Amino acid sequence: MNDSSKTPQVVKSDEEWKAQLDPESYYVLRQAGTEMPHTGKYYNFFDGGKYYCKACGAYLFSSDQKFHSSCGWPSFYDVQKGAIKYIEDNSHGMRRIETRCANCDSHLGHVFDDGPLDKTGLRYCINSVSLTFKPEKQ
Ligand SMILES: [Zn+2]
Repeated sequence: MNDSSKTPQVVKSDEEWKAQLDPESYYVLRQAGTEMPHTGKYYNFFDGGKYYCKACGAYLFSSDQKFHSSCGWPSFYDVQKGAIKYIEDNSHGMRRIETRCANCDSHLGHVFDDGPLDKTGLRYCINSVSLTFKPEKQ
């Protein structure tokens, strides 16, 4: 969890991100915002498929890694290897670990250690608006 110096592979100016993303996604992905809990379109959503970074399209999570959590945001117990970078976040008087897309440095959410103990024990708490879902091919 100490790869925050890794150079992102997709680098765009703030203006380019703003033009590409809808306002809520821009706020979350590029300004480290948080969507309202229990409102995200992938919170109560368990179709089979893959979740990609909405900003750059990197493959981040599989639906197999998703679990139901009462926290109000989509929750995953694991990620695609190397897809995410971790940054210590001491804002709002809390000590948390921020998760960003390793490919484009966009904010995704945070990771906590209260996930399912029969899996990794981790809970990746991710904003729906940071993600694009593609269903599994039938
Ligand atoms: Zn990305």
